[in-house]
Amino acid sequence: MWQQRPAEPAPDDHRTTTVEQGRFCAARCSCGWRGPARRARSRARSDAAEHATALRTDGASGTAPPDGLG
Ligand SMILES: [Zn+2]
Repeated sequence: MWQQRPAEPAPDDHRTTTVEQGRFCAARCSCGWRGPARRARSRARSDAAEHATALRTDGASGTAPPDGLG
């Protein structure tokens, strides 16, 4: 069965979600971006939120996240 939801966001919108990788959880975006694997899903969600926020503002201008090494 294939059901489509009527409310589809704009293609420019970054739809982030979390994917489980074994015991880890990583953030994933509709644009193809993937965050580092985290042990906590809440952490992965935080990465996704930061990704969406960073792109929403003025784009990445050489701003490195404090916890980029994962
Ligand atoms: Zn994205």
